[in-house]
Amino acid sequence: MKIFNTQTKRKEEFVPLEGKRVKMYVCGPTVYGDAHLGHARAAVAFDLIRRFLEHEGFHVSFVQNFTDVDDKIINKATEEKTSIGEVARRYALSYLQDMVALHVRRADFYPLATETLPVMQDVIQKLIAKGHAYVGDRGDVYFDTESFPAYGKLSKRPKQEMESLGAQDKGLSEKKNLKDFALWKTRETKNEVGWDSPWGYGRPGWHIECSAMNLHYLGESIDIHGGGQDLIFPHHENEVAQCEALTGKPFAKYWLHNGFVNINHAKMSKSLGNFFTIRELLKQFTGDQLRLFLLTSQYRKPIEFSLDILREKLPLNQRIEAALEYLERNLQVAGLTPTLLYNEAYRGDYGFAATSTTDETEATAEENTRKSLVASREKFLQALRDDLNTPMALAELMNLVKIIQAWNKPPEVKSPSPSIVTIKFTFIILREILDIFGLYPRDSGNLHPAVTHLEKFIDAKLQERTQARKKKDFKKSDAIREELNKIGVEIQDFPNKSTWNWRK
Ligand SMILES: [Zn+2]
Repeated sequence: MKIFNTQTKRKEEFVPLEGKRVKMYVCGPTVYGDAHLGHARAAVAFDLIRRFLEHEGFHVSFVQNFTDVDDKIINKATEEKTSIGEVARRYALSYLQDMVALHVRRADFYPLATETLPVMQDVIQKLIAKGHAYVGDRGDVYFDTESFPAYGKLSKRPKQEMESLGAQDKGLSEKKNLKDFALWKTRETKNEVGWDSPWGYGRPGWHIECSAMNLHYLGESIDIHGGGQDLIFPHHENEVAQCEALTGKPFAKYWLHNGFVNINHAKMSKSLGNFFTIRELLKQFTGDQLRLFLLTSQYRKPIEFSLDILREKLPLNQRIEAALEYLERNLQVAGLTPTLLYNEAYRGDYGFAATSTTDETEATAEENTRKSLVASREKFLQALRDDLNTPMALAELMNLVKIIQAWNKPPEVKSPSPSIVTIKFTFIILREILDIFGLYPRDSGNLHPAVTHLEKFIDAKLQERTQARKKKDFKKSDAIREELNKIGVEIQDFPNKSTWNWRK
């Protein structure tokens, strides 16, 4: 399998550091708002890579962090007169619910920055001791980029550019060099969010967070480090510097970066305000529809988004679903349970010899069909082995769907019906391919069932409260308001009714 490595700027054969084990780290979201389609793209891209690696026989340990301390989270908490923990928890949960809807598998670990502080402080201390970091005149700690001659090797940015970006750090100590970046930022008063440290009360820099988590959860050298292309500089460049200066060993063997989701050719981002949250899209589309749309472009390429472009792709989902339904229906008629059948099938082992039919002519026709199905499957896998070429893989998936569609037509136009043996064979291939793509057409619910359940609960509580208000039982109605408030629900009362919304 070949993957494009940002560090060498070319496609390379993927060979993990240790046998079949793959240590993979992907930078997670800063949790201060609902995740948008840009986050979904990164999540789906790295989920696909993980699924495919596992299909290829690798064992993947997958770590993704949540940045739960950041100026944006602090501002939001101040605005809402709540704690940063409450804001972070709310949006981390919201992110995880979105991921369930998108069929993004759970990471093995989701470390939080605030829980990894001792590790971060330990790393900073060791960097200072080794002469790779220094304490500035106001107590901030900086990484000394001059002490790490390879600085810039990942992003290959010109020195001047790195310096002018570094000059944007405001309100901190004097730096020795403009490229130097903060590992610890001291705070003037303890009224601000922060933690005690050997260098004074303050907060960690963002880059040290991911380095500490990598070292703690995966070790000194990892196989894959992933994230969006916007993270290459300075975030990943700084991670390389911190880790390699500390350990003297190569940090990540492969650096993988996903492209942006664009709207009118501009990057979708929270700061630009041109974004669609996953949550709002899930009101109109299924997780599978969003996921397949994201897979229509190779993960490193930009993908242009609009509601119309998304709608144009929906027939792909419908055709896949119809093909799957046709196969399942036929299996059930023959007394077979599709899920059991698939679970029992070893990948690529269809449970029978290719020449098991006795009738000569039928055997030939069926054999040819099966051969073309196997060829489609192989082309699908080959496309993914070439730096996860999902558009080409999708074309092969649709080829397979086309073969199945031909069986599922009115009698006068359809191809001859295949035997149950071939149906079984086809089902196993299709399900296997859909598993790699992470598509589960049966799971057509828009939001995770837990969310729907919670919303029903809130509606019922609100009705109960309306009844209480009608009876002028304000004690009870206030108690219900209080109860809902605790889970982040805000109620608005109108003369004839009350409505609710998640607290913004
Ligand atoms: Zn990171």
